[in-house]
Amino acid sequence: MHQKDMEFHFRTLPQRVSFGVGHIREVSAEMDALGAERAAVLTTPGRTALADQLRPLLGARFAGAFPGAVMHTPVEVTDAAQAAIAEFNADAIISVGGGSTIGLGKALSLRTGLPHIVIPTTYAGSEATPVLGQTANGVKTTMSAPAILPASIIYDVTLTTDLPARTSLTSGINAIAHAVEALYAVDGNPVTSMMAEEAVRQLGTALPQICADPANIEARSAALYGAWLCGICLATAGMALHHKLCHTLGGSFGLPHADVHTILLPHVLAYNAPAAAHTVERLSRALGCDDPAARIYDLSAQNGGPVSLAEIGFTESNIAQAVDLALTQRYPNPRPLERAGLEQLLHNAVFGTRPSIAP
Ligand code: NAD
Repeated sequence: MHQKDMEFHFRTLPQRVSFGVGHIREVSAEMDALGAERAAVLTTPGRTALADQLRPLLGARFAGAFPGAVMHTPVEVTDAAQAAIAEFNADAIISVGGGSTIGLGKALSLRTGLPHIVIPTTYAGSEATPVLGQTANGVKTTMSAPAILPASIIYDVTLTTDLPARTSLTSGINAIAHAVEALYAVDGNPVTSMMAEEAVRQLGTALPQICADPANIEARSAALYGAWLCGICLATAGMALHHKLCHTLGGSFGLPHADVHTILLPHVLAYNAPAAAHTVERLSRALGCDDPAARIYDLSAQNGGPVSLAEIGFTESNIAQAVDLALTQRYPNPRPLERAGLEQLLHNAVFGTRPSIAP
């Protein structure tokens, strides 16, 4: 530990967490702990079966389901959901699903003041953060406030076994991205870094096992545990170039969230590596390699994940506009933002070139 790393600020987040196989059965006790009687249950349209699993556990406390969550939390969807939960006469919100469902639950909880229980089924990490991204008139804005942090999380590993292998992989690499940027964050700290390194170790081992056998409950547990740690990383350290670029590409070019994270992360890490030696050292230790950028690229390539922006519809002709957008925002990043370097980064990402930062 370097002396300079022993000067830090850390904010603990008030949130209850229950983790384990079958823990969805604790949902009623969690309602009791929050003093709530009737829950409105949110899902995405394709995942109503997740809400159905809660019906027998909640009985009469299941006030109604709103299966309309979509990516990027459009305010029109939140308006419709708010009307529905008023109709249900609900006094609590339960989000069961991935980041899209959780985003809707956060928006509703913020508007109504109702307590929010989250049952995550992907690895995106939103459940652990006081951050909400919403879209109005096609523009996505992000806000942070203590009231956005869900009151409690129930991680039930069994709900993740039907998450398809490819979605598991990209969602897991999305989580790893939170840990990577927390390691070199300007407001990083030894507690978050400890969680980040462990998270990358857990996910790096578990994701190939999940791709080989999506029902592997031990690998699923390790990945979900790693994802929770990554969520805390996202909540307790400032994100940099990688998250800003993903936000730009996702928002302005309509690209799928987890795929963009998966494709860009090795290239952003390669860009930042010359200015982030400690991060490279910790990631190398966690992943058991000497080139974590190449290792994360291989994690996707060898397990059926995306490696090029071209394959998700972003082409060479989009690079100049994306770099313009990336340079309009100013934020801390280990390596200064340079136009030529960013163009090269995106060029490599468009063509899926395997990065190399090996010493
Ligand atoms: P998602 O919630 O859209 O889920 C991806 C797909 O997987 C959906 O079609 C969903 O129905 C399906 N799915 C979810 N669980 C499943 C399961 N167990 N089995 C089968 N299918 C399942 O995507 P995501 O990647 O989890 O979240 C992305 C969104 O979350 C983005 O809008 C992003 O901005 C946001 N996000 C926010 C934060 C934050 O802190 N505010 C953090 C991370 C992500």
